Amino acid sequence: MKIIRTIAEMNQLSKQENASLGLVPTMGYLHEGHLSLVREARGANTAVVVSIFVNPIQFSPDEDFDAYPRDLNRDLKILAEERTDIVFVPSAEEMFPREYASWVEVTSLINRLEEAFRPGHFRGVTTVVAKLFNIIRPAKAYFGQKDIQQASIIKKMVADLNMNIEIMIIPTVREDDGLAMSSRNSYLSPAERRAATVLFKALTLARKMKQGGEQDANNLRQQMSSLIQKEPLAHIDYVSIADADTLEELFLLDKNALAILAVRIGKTRLIDNMLLE
Ligand code: AMP
Repeated sequence: MKIIRTIAEMNQLSKQENASLGLVPTMGYLHEGHLSLVREARGANTAVVVSIFVNPIQFSPDEDFDAYPRDLNRDLKILAEERTDIVFVPSAEEMFPREYASWVEVTSLINRLEEAFRPGHFRGVTTVVAKLFNIIRPAKAYFGQKDIQQASIIKKMVADLNMNIEIMIIPTVREDDGLAMSSRNSYLSPAERRAATVLFKALTLARKMKQGGEQDANNLRQQMSSLIQKEPLAHIDYVSIADADTLEELFLLDKNALAILAVRIGKTRLIDNMLLE
């Protein structure tokens, strides 16, 4: 496994590689969710690149950039066990030097859900992902369904800017009790960890209601919200029933209905979603 720490070196390598590269961009502190992306990439490309970069420009000043969990040695060990070919670990100074001044911004899909609570977050994401795409030149890049709005925005960026990269969206990996795996789960106290199962419970409730014949999206939002409100440690940022492609809110449920949630458990903000079909 090659560990590459500079942009020049990564550029050089991606030029040399005749192979088609599969890229898995991450912020590290890896879990089974990340590894399912790596495994998916390994089966479909001649070499897999995992990037590890806690991207400062996607955190607002009041967010958890400094506290975000990091353990590079552990991540490298896990990736070696997964037979990863290349790990790209650039420095923040090189990615965003003092004179840095360029942004990539997708203007549709962002005026709702996460953006309302994390203004500027997605332009930080699209900017760093565009840079990673330019540096690494992958044939395919892998993103998780858990961050569905992020994945949709990246797809839009790639289409609009004619980036010749196939975006693959991989199903959410969950703990045994349904909680979506996330690096941020490590913030949860034991009581908060128990409370955090309320996200999956609410998503499952929505799916059951839909399967039981419910057609009114608003009834789903209400039932999900009241279930979450019964959990004293949980505070809702949003409960959405939206079209899985456009992320526009739905009034009537259809085949493409997606339930999407952001809930704070104590100080930890968790997101999750589920297709209701
Ligand atoms: P992060 O390190 O949190 O930025 O995540 C890196 C990539 O892994 C993103 O594309 C996420 O959507 C994806 N990911 C995170 N958690 C999961 C999960 N539980 N299942 C599948 N993919 C995930």
